[in-house]
Formats: sequence, C-alpha cells, structure tokens
Amino acid sequence: MSNGDILVIGSMNMDLVVQTGRYPDKGETIIGKDFDQIPGGKGANQALAVGKLGGSVSFIGACGNDNFGDELLSSLKTGGVNVDNVFRVEENTGIAAITVEEDGDNRIIVVSGANSKLSSSMIDKLEDEIKEVEAILLQMEIPLKTIVHTIELAHQYQTTVILDPAPAQELPEDIYEQIDYLLPNEGELELLLQDYNLTTTQEQVDQLLDWGVGTILLTRGKNGIILYTKGRQEHYKAIEVEAVDTTAAGDSFAGAFAYGLQQGWSEEKAIKFGNQVAALVVTKLGAQSSLPTIEDVEEFKQ
Ligand code: ATP
Repeated sequence: MSNGDILVIGSMNMDLVVQTGRYPDKGETIIGKDFDQIPGGKGANQALAVGKLGGSVSFIGACGNDNFGDELLSSLKTGGVNVDNVFRVEENTGIAAITVEEDGDNRIIVVSGANSKLSSSMIDKLEDEIKEVEAILLQMEIPLKTIVHTIELAHQYQTTVILDPAPAQELPEDIYEQIDYLLPNEGELELLLQDYNLTTTQEQVDQLLDWGVGTILLTRGKNGIILYTKGRQEHYKAIEVEAVDTTAAGDSFAGAFAYGLQQGWSEEKAIKFGNQVAALVVTKLGAQSSLPTIEDVEEFKQ
C-alpha cells in the first residue's frame, strides 16, 4: 500500500445469481431462466470498481481456503486491486444467493462465512498501512466491532472515512463524527435511526449531521443522489438508462465516488462521475462483471 491509495475494507462473496421471470411463492418451486456464478461482496465490488477505473486500490478482507476464495482473489487481482493483505481463514468463503427478476429487481441473501472472521486484531496488524492511505472505504458486511474499530483508527490518522452503511444496522452515536462521507440509500437511512422515531428523511438527515457526519450522499436509485451537509443540500439527477440488473449500483457509485476524490476532483464532479458509472452498471447483469473501465465510461458519455 502507498500514499494516495484507496483502501477498501470489507466483504468478499461468491454471488450465485439466478435469473427468473418472477419470484416463487412460499412453498412453490418454479423453473428459473439462467444461473451464473459471479464474484461479488460489497467490499470486493467497491475495490474492483476503483481498480477497474484505474485507481490505486488495496483490499483487506477474509476468505476461506477454498475454490471460491481462489476465484475471488484472482478476479480482484485481474482488476488491478492489491490483495496482499487479504486473510485466508478456516471458514468457508462467503456467498450471496441472488435472484433477479425480469424488470431488474433483485433479492439477496448473504451467508457471511469467512467475512465474519475479519476482526479488529487483524486490522491492527495493518495499522502501518492504514495510516498511509488517502481514504478508507467501508461497508457493513463485516463485523460491526471491526467497522467501528477501523473508523476510529482511520480517524486517528486523519484518513478520509467513507461508509456505505449496507446492510444497515445501528451504529454507536459517537462514531458518526468520525465519518467524512456516509452513503446510505433511503431504507438504510431509516434503519440506522430505527430507534429514534424520526419519520421524515429531513429529520433523519438532520440527526446524523447533528451527530457530526461530514456529508451524507443519499442514493435514490433512478432518482439520483441528494447531498446533505450542514447548511447545504444539492440534488444530482441519475442518468436515464434501461435497467437490466440494479445489483452493485450502490457499490459502483461508492467506488467511483472514492476514485473521483482520489483524482482530486470536487465533490460535485465525483458525484456526477459516480452517477455515470452506476448508470452503466445497471444496464448489465451481475456485480463485478458489470463494472466499467474508465474507457467504457468515456464512451458512454459521448
Ligand atoms: P445496491 O444495494 O443495489 O447496490 P443501492 O440501493 O445502494 O444499490 P441505489 O440508490 O439503488 O443504491 O443506486 C445507487 C446509484 O446508482 C443511484 O444514486 C444512481 O446514480 C444509480 N442508479 C441506480 N439505479 C439506477 C437506474 N435505474 N437508472 C440510472 N441510475 C441508477
């Protein structure tokens, strides 16, 4: 790892993707249309999003000593991600069972496996590396304790912290002031504050800003992004495309936004770029398989 790297700390899963005309009812069996085995996991997706765009990126995660683990590492390496610090543990590599309906809607069940073994003490072993990087990008498919510990460590070294709180669960209130960018969708925003009886998005956002979050980028699918920071609110439209599969829309946005910051771009430019990358991703099936290169994005813009 070196100065200026984006460091992604998170999950790696093998996505087992079934395409189907519709979802089965309880107790019903239906014949699906197709099956693919695609490398995924929110952490690995976001790392690969940065890597494929040409950003300098390292990944810390945990996988098993099994074939899925080998395949996931090789997919990350091929995409230009440094995986020297991925831990191989005595647990099966995580998987995600994903069904995708005809209109592009998806349903996902994650079995964490090795991801659940990524501990604070493993992160501490990499403290020297963590203090060197430009920004740390986290999601919530690894243990909550590890996430909180990593944020505290990064904050101590004034490293920019970007958290995509998915899948959302409540975080300790005092951690929010150590988060520079929080990237929830509307459902995740609600879940982060489920015990606080705040009904509107504005109330929820205000609470998080009061607790000290730097900037919130609320992702709203085809309705784009709203940026909230103290005293400022900006809307960014999504790019109109025909959605085939929205899997990894949020991951590609997070990776592309981090890439934009790494390039020294303004927040506005990084968000618009993120919208372009995510729009391209929803036109393709799968998670890592749908991530674009910088050339793909340039072509898409014209
Ligand atoms: P996921 O969990 O599926 O990765 P998410 O719920 O975290 O996604 P979304 O809000 O669905 O994230 O999408 C993230 C960004 O992707 C949006 O802000 C937008 O820029 C882009 N996006 C998502 N869906 C569409 C769409 N149908 N058309 C164009 N852009 C889209």
